[in-house]
This record gives sequence, C-alpha cells and structure tokens, in this order.
Amino acid sequence: MRAVQYTNVGDPPRVTDVPVPEPGPGQLVLRVTAAGVCHSDLAVMSWPADGFPYPLPLTLGHEAAGRVEALGDGVHGVSEGESVVVYGPWGCGLCRNCSRGMENYCPHAGRLGIRPPGLGAPGALAEYLLVDAERHVVPIGGMDPVETVPLTDAGLTPYHVVKRSLDRLFPGSTAVVIGAGGLGHVAIQLLRAVSSATVVALDTREQSRELARQSGAHHVFPSNTDAAEHLRDLTGGAGADAVFDFVGAKATTDMASRMAGMDSDVNIVGIADGSFPVSFGSVPFGTRAAITYWGGRPELIELIDLAARGAVSVEVQRFSLEDGPRVYERMRSGDIHGRAVIVP
Ligand code: NAD
Ligand code: ZN
Repeated sequence: MRAVQYTNVGDPPRVTDVPVPEPGPGQLVLRVTAAGVCHSDLAVMSWPADGFPYPLPLTLGHEAAGRVEALGDGVHGVSEGESVVVYGPWGCGLCRNCSRGMENYCPHAGRLGIRPPGLGAPGALAEYLLVDAERHVVPIGGMDPVETVPLTDAGLTPYHVVKRSLDRLFPGSTAVVIGAGGLGHVAIQLLRAVSSATVVALDTREQSRELARQSGAHHVFPSNTDAAEHLRDLTGGAGADAVFDFVGAKATTDMASRMAGMDSDVNIVGIADGSFPVSFGSVPFGTRAAITYWGGRPELIELIDLAARGAVSVEVQRFSLEDGPRVYERMRSGDIHGRAVIVP
C-alpha cells in the first residue's frame, strides 16, 4: 500500500510502498477514509537525529478515520464495514488515568513502548491503519469522515483545554485564542458553544483572522506587540480570564503573560520555543499556567456528539495521499486554511 513516511531525520517526507498491516489478537485494521495533517508533525520533523524518539521510517498521521476492514481474534465490539474515528493518545488502558478515559495522561505508555499512530506507531497517512485495541475506535455512523476526522486532534485538543478552564469562562469573562489555524478555529467555536465568554482571537495571517471571524470570535486582532495593550483596553484593564495559546512560540507566550488577568488560566497548547515563567511579579496573582496534551476518550465522544448537532464544524481542505509531502510544505509556509485532510 502507499504511505507518507518520514524516512530520515532532516529529509522531507515521501510517498513509499509498505506492506498492508494484519491484525493480531485484540487488534483491528481500518481502510483509511480520511487522515488529518497536524502542525505537530512539523515539530517532529524538526527534531535532531540525536535522541530522536521514534523508529524510522515512520508513517505519519495521527488523525484517522476509516472503515473496519479486518478484526483480530477476540475483537467483538465493532463489526466489519463500520465507520469509525481513532482515539489517538493510546495508554496502558489499566492505570488510574486510563481508567477514567484520559489515556493522554497515561504515565506508563512511554516505558511500555505504547505510542500513538503517526507519533511512533505507523500512522494514518496510508491506505490501511493498524489499531492496537478496539477501545481506541469511536463509531461515527453516517457522519462524513473527511469533516469528522480533524475532531480527533484539532477538535479534541482544544475541547480538552476549554473544558479544563470552564470555571474561568463565566458570563462577562474574556477568553483569548492565539493562533486560529487547525486547532484554534475549532477552539473559537467550542468556546462559543460551551460558554458565554467574550472570545478574542489573534493571528499573524489575515486569512486565519478571517477564519476566526467566521468561527464566531467577537473580536479579532493582528497578533503583534500592540495586541496585549489592545486587550487591556478592551477589558477595562482587567486582562483575560483564560488564554489559549495554539502557537507556543516565545512571542506568543510573552504576549500571553501580558494578557493574563488576576486569577486567570493560561493554557499553552502550541509546541514551539516559548515558555511561561510563573513567579511573584511576573504574572498577576492567581495565574494558573498549564501545558496540555491531546484529550480523553470520553471527551472525543462528547465532541462528536457536539459536531453531530452542528455546534462545531471544521474548515477542511482535501488532498490525495500523493499530495502528502506537498501538504507539509504548504503548512510550513502558512498556506493551509483550517485543516488539511488526506483522502487516500
Ligand atoms: P496550524 O499551522 O494549522 O495553525 C497555526 C496558526 O497559528 C496559523 O493560523 C498561523 O498563522 C498562526 N500563527 C503563527 N504564528 C503566530 C503568532 N506569532 N501569533 C498568532 N498566530 C500565529 O497549526 P495547528 O495544527 O493548529 O497546531 C497548532 C499548534 O498546536 C502547533 O504548535 C502544534 O504542534 C500544536 N499541537 C499541540 C497539541 C497538544 O496536545 N499540545 C496537539 C495538536 C497540536
Ligand atoms: Zn496533532
């Protein structure tokens, strides 16, 4: 089968031929119907060879939708032909965090060599995908796989972080979204769907600012050195009650620290060179800073329900599997609108 693989550190990804996977006991194989492309893969492909954490070649893609093609022994909860999406942050399945569905925070996965598809295990930018256990799939019925697949990361990651900060998103509060790309434009819709906060969105690109407006942001500014001042003016000096940084670069984490209000939440989701020091004098009293990773399986189920009701919809751009390497180039140069989805 064809697959988009990262083969050598520093080389661009390429389309290769690899064997079709076969399910072992407890596993299943999906015929991939859609696979989303995430900016995190660019971070992975920027890491140096020294200490690179995953075996290469690696089939990329950690947002997967598919039809169940083959079942391993002992798999009874799903049937052949069923349309599903994949919950990606696989854990041990047994510990306290996994037991409440938060496999994204499994403390044992790394030690046990359990890795998400596309982030260590063979990923979804291929014709077929091996899934380790039936608990990792969520049926989507008649929903369009192309429009639904980004919910597994571009939707789930912001849904998780918005839920964590829900107690800061009371009527009259202000939420700031930095970066209105794949994740950020879904975050804006989620904030509008689950809270009454005033939503302020910032981006450096006009195309993304337009997407932020379409996604329901009340105020949209360019992301620059004046933005923090602008937000202070807008909030009568109080600052934000919750900041969601989907860039994570030094410029945006610095901006987040100047935007945080008293007793606020600052969530850094973007993976770049930023940091958010918390100390007396550096940020207002009560500031809580968090870095978050992906989301929980129950949250994915809730999110799919929200999408089925029309409360969130992802802006998608479709590409073929052969286009995969070019999609990463376009993403690097800021030429993707919403989420790129590969349809193999
Ligand atoms: P994307 O490329 O689709 O979107 C990024 C957006 O940020 C674009 O609209 C871009 O114009 C904007 N941007 C860039 N620099 C900016 C700046 N200085 N100020 C404001 N906006 C700026 O990326 P994505 O797929 O949505 O991913 C966003 C980030 O989240 C990436 O760093 C990715 O690695 C990370 N991520 C983290 C998790 C997690 O679990 N923590 C999960 C998925 C993705
Ligand atoms: Zn991702």
